[in-house]
Amino acid sequence: MFKIIRVNMSDLSITAEDIPESYQGLGGRGLTSAVVAKEVDPLCSPIGPNNKLVFAPGLLGGTNCANSGRISVGGKSPLTGGIKEANSGGQAGGYLSRLGIAAIVIEGMAEEGKLYKLYVSKDKQELSTADDLKGLGNYATVEKLKTSFGEKMAFVSIGQAGEMKLPAASVAFTDRNQRPTRHAGRGGLGAVMGSKGLKAIVIDPAEGESAPLVDKDGFKAAAKRFATAIQKHPVTSEGLTNYGTEVLVNIVNEAGALPTRNFSAGRFEHAEKVSGETLNKITLERKGNPSHGCMAGCIIRCSGDFLDKDGNYFSKWPEYETVWAWGPNCGIDDLDAIARMDRACDDFGLDTIEMGNAIAVAMEGGVKQFGDVAGAEELLAEIGKGTPMGRILGSGAGAVGKAFGVRRVAVVKNQALPAYDPRAVKGVGVTYATSPMGADHTAGYAVTTNILEVGGSVDPLKPEGQVRLSKDLQVATAAIDTAGLCLFVAFPILDIPDALVAIVDMLNAKYGLSLTADDWSALGKKVLQIERDFNSRAGFTAADDRLPEFFRLEKLPPHDTVFDIPDKELDTVFSF
Ligand code: SF4
Repeated sequence: MFKIIRVNMSDLSITAEDIPESYQGLGGRGLTSAVVAKEVDPLCSPIGPNNKLVFAPGLLGGTNCANSGRISVGGKSPLTGGIKEANSGGQAGGYLSRLGIAAIVIEGMAEEGKLYKLYVSKDKQELSTADDLKGLGNYATVEKLKTSFGEKMAFVSIGQAGEMKLPAASVAFTDRNQRPTRHAGRGGLGAVMGSKGLKAIVIDPAEGESAPLVDKDGFKAAAKRFATAIQKHPVTSEGLTNYGTEVLVNIVNEAGALPTRNFSAGRFEHAEKVSGETLNKITLERKGNPSHGCMAGCIIRCSGDFLDKDGNYFSKWPEYETVWAWGPNCGIDDLDAIARMDRACDDFGLDTIEMGNAIAVAMEGGVKQFGDVAGAEELLAEIGKGTPMGRILGSGAGAVGKAFGVRRVAVVKNQALPAYDPRAVKGVGVTYATSPMGADHTAGYAVTTNILEVGGSVDPLKPEGQVRLSKDLQVATAAIDTAGLCLFVAFPILDIPDALVAIVDMLNAKYGLSLTADDWSALGKKVLQIERDFNSRAGFTAADDRLPEFFRLEKLPPHDTVFDIPDKELDTVFSF
């Protein structure tokens, strides 16, 4: 029987309960959003005692289904003021499922200045003081925890940014090598963790076991079909495996949709220098591993090790969005510098998309010049030190735009846009505008069909067909996030019909259900409706489902297009 663990940071009590009826059938994002929507006052302070921070593995977690160990983190976002779910790879999700834990809900708030860590095993959950971890980055935090708890645990932690309650703070998860390189990055959930006085969670998998299956043979057969679909699709068996998400740099640049120097152009003249092909080449030259999984059971393996010039491990491969944020968006073309800033963000516990945008906006505001590597690193270091400038930057791109009087600030619901310009990939523009999460490419990744021609083809430069595309993808993504699957399984799902059938078959075999593909879609819609309802009660209206004005006013070279999808069409995305 799966349990929900509740940790009250106000009185330091811990309780376990069966999953209430209203949360049955939900996991991952579906569960975090349901708990937040039902239990959190939408008007509360995100960094106050009435917010909750929820950790939940997905419905397929703890099984041998490929790529099923993601963990969702949810709460009211300090960045957007709305509901937030951010999910991550690493080992924590799979371990929690194997311990029979459906969710950990962190409630209340510790006494000011106190810091704790939470130990979680099958039969024991315990809070203890974490004063020795105060002020440490994620890397030093994990090293200390390893000394105390050993090499078999999964760790969840915040760095200095979370302790400072900065709206760009992330929650870090350790990967298979106990490195804090995987992050629930978006929306400032690290600040919520910091506000609770919780520095780290230690997950001990020792007594864990595979999740129970009602129909073992049926599950095994469906899991095999699903793995076959992943291995058949070129994106998940070649592109991502060989070049990571970085494979997108040259593709998106060619499409004229790579936001450059704070969204002022769609092509970066030095894209090749920061491309996946270059990253792969230098990794092999330095004798690094260009392909591994961030969690057990990953068969796509989009991650790699970034080695320094002497061949020593330095960081994980920076993701495409990270390379873009620090690279083209700041006018920087140096992969070693980008890896340094990626590692610094992992260490301080910061969302790289928000930070790359914040510093690009600061560059536009005249704080530094575009292309100034030393300047960008200097600004990032200010955040770790907690200087006044650092705190402004760590408050995100929207805050920086206001502080320095910049008009071109690419945010929706105050969350910075990722690495695809919505004037040249209009489907993803619809997702940015309307997702309950704020601007988030993962919420409905229309780049698939707009640029990669996966799941069909919709012209990225024309307004026709984009609303329908984004709507379908947002529904599918909410279901994928609820199942705890890595989003990259969406590629085979879009092109190989049996992939989705296999997922539904696995859910049926695991839980003894008789769901259909329509039920899968209904699950995604239900999650979106829960999230929209929370945002509406938090004060969001249709006016918040819009892109910044400049995307309609300024033409984007080289295609010279603007975002021209009418507002009234945007307002139909959630008419289910
Ligand atoms: S494909 Fe990449 S992000 Fe997904 S689980 Fe594997 S390594 Fe992690």
